[in-house]
Amino acid sequence: MAKLLIVDDQLGIRRLLYEAFNEEGYEVDLAGSGQEAIEKVKAAPPDLILMDMKMPGMNGIETLHEVRKINDAVAVIMMTAYGELEIIAEAVKFGIKEYVTKPFDIIELRELVKRTIFELAHKEVS
Ligand SMILES: [Mg+2]
Repeated sequence: MAKLLIVDDQLGIRRLLYEAFNEEGYEVDLAGSGQEAIEKVKAAPPDLILMDMKMPGMNGIETLHEVRKINDAVAVIMMTAYGELEIIAEAVKFGIKEYVTKPFDIIELRELVKRTIFELAHKEVS
């Protein structure tokens, strides 16, 4: 099963996403900050990162910049506030797969994760 890393400074969101994806059978790891996310990517690279944009300290873009120095293969879905088009454009430069705007619909996010993981697996085969 695919391994997900959820990066969000809000405990409630980490819990929600942990429960939603653990239930689906994914291996789920959590990080509460950009720094923690970088350590986790170094230690055990995930297949997919769900990355919050707004975090104290390192934000999602800064974290993604550091993650890409370590691993340029990991797929990333960004979680942004509605209307942050400039930030999304910046994130696209770092090879994000998709983005969702907060507040997100958990059912849609599950489908997006499922589709992204499927595409990754398919790409490895072809
Ligand atoms: Mg946040």
